Amino acid sequence: MTEQAFKSGFVTLIGRPNVGKSTLINRLLRQKVAAVSPRPQTTRRRQLGILTTDEYQVIFMDTPGIHKGKDRLDEYMNSTAQETILDADIVVWIVDAGVEPQPEDLMIADILKSMPRLPTLVLLLNKVDTLSEEERVARKQSYSTLVESTVISEISALRGDGQEELLAVLLSHLPEGPLYYDREQITDFYEREIAADLIRQACLEELRDEIPHGIAVRIDEYKERSDDQTYIHATIIVNRDSHKGIVIGKGGLMLKQIGTLARKEIEEMTDGRIFLELRVKTNKNWRNNPEILKYLGFALGR
Ligand code: GDP
Ligand code: MG
Repeated sequence: MTEQAFKSGFVTLIGRPNVGKSTLINRLLRQKVAAVSPRPQTTRRRQLGILTTDEYQVIFMDTPGIHKGKDRLDEYMNSTAQETILDADIVVWIVDAGVEPQPEDLMIADILKSMPRLPTLVLLLNKVDTLSEEERVARKQSYSTLVESTVISEISALRGDGQEELLAVLLSHLPEGPLYYDREQITDFYEREIAADLIRQACLEELRDEIPHGIAVRIDEYKERSDDQTYIHATIIVNRDSHKGIVIGKGGLMLKQIGTLARKEIEEMTDGRIFLELRVKTNKNWRNNPEILKYLGFALGR
């Protein structure tokens, strides 16, 4: 008997808000890693659930829902969604089969069709528990015409029907690969990464062009103090002492402005209160320092 090779890969869940992405991830992982809510848009950030067995490791990316952008956060969410499509081995487009395709579904179809390349695409009809047999057939018809998918699958993320079939489909399209994450790890720290990114953006915005490209942000501490309160300590790393002064500003004013803007943005992302402490540090030539780059998440080996 030959030994089965270990399989692993990245599965991006895409779908408009409220179709059941978080419910699906939580079901597949058998625990709660993603926020589920009857209100749309609970998932404002890229989230990750990791399912590991002796045979495989599937890493799920729970993208924020793609929707019509009206502010910068929306833009951020949409571009995050597109990135996670390109990062994936398999894309699962999850739709609410309880209703006919909505304008946002058409938008997603357009985005999928416009991607330079597409990984394996699974069209997943969710909420089939709400449907009669006739409706199910009709919905399958109307969604499947929107995009050319590799496989069409049906599920009730809420009840679990179709869950094993979906896993089998995913595994059949997963490449051979390594264990990317420890077996025990079921989620990742994307919130931290996004927070770092938002702080960096706040720097760029407040400083305008005074310090081109010379800034990195490291999250030193990211602690949820309660359901809606998070403490963040972060270091803004610049590569020249003169830049340090600019970031801090006269009487610390610039740093204060950066902090205020960043805090607002992070609060929008997390839907909770943020206590943000910032400090500034010079680290000459951090862009060429592999240790620092690794720490900052640039060199994860994939
Ligand atoms: P997301 O925004 O795509 O992450 O959607 P959520 O997972 O937060 O789910 C949105 C709502 O749909 C919640 O009220 C879920 O309980 C509900 N829901 C999710 N999956 C199903 C399903 O298979 N059947 C039914 N009836 N409801 C579901
Ligand atoms: Mg969600």
